[in-house]
Amino acid sequence: MNKDIEFNGDDLVKSVESFAMSLNKSDNIKPDFEPGNQYDANNIVCPHCGYQRPAESEDNSEDVFDDECEECGKEFVHWAQISISYVSIKPKN
Ligand SMILES: [Zn+2]
Repeated sequence: MNKDIEFNGDDLVKSVESFAMSLNKSDNIKPDFEPGNQYDANNIVCPHCGYQRPAESEDNSEDVFDDECEECGKEFVHWAQISISYVSIKPKN
């Protein structure tokens, strides 16, 4: 009796895990991904498989970083392409 309960529990955990993984996967792959150079305003996107993670403040550098995709394990490099806007406004009086 005990064994049956344990078995069912394992089964449930497994199906919940695989469901969570499938959810996770669709969340983290860039929609309409095409392999190749990636340009994204918010995320670091793997050029191999489209896995994306939100860019963090340490990613805001024009230095080139070696990276490895958490999803497919392949290597790529990334850097931040920073553009500058010159702002002119009237002084407050
Ligand atoms: Zn990848």
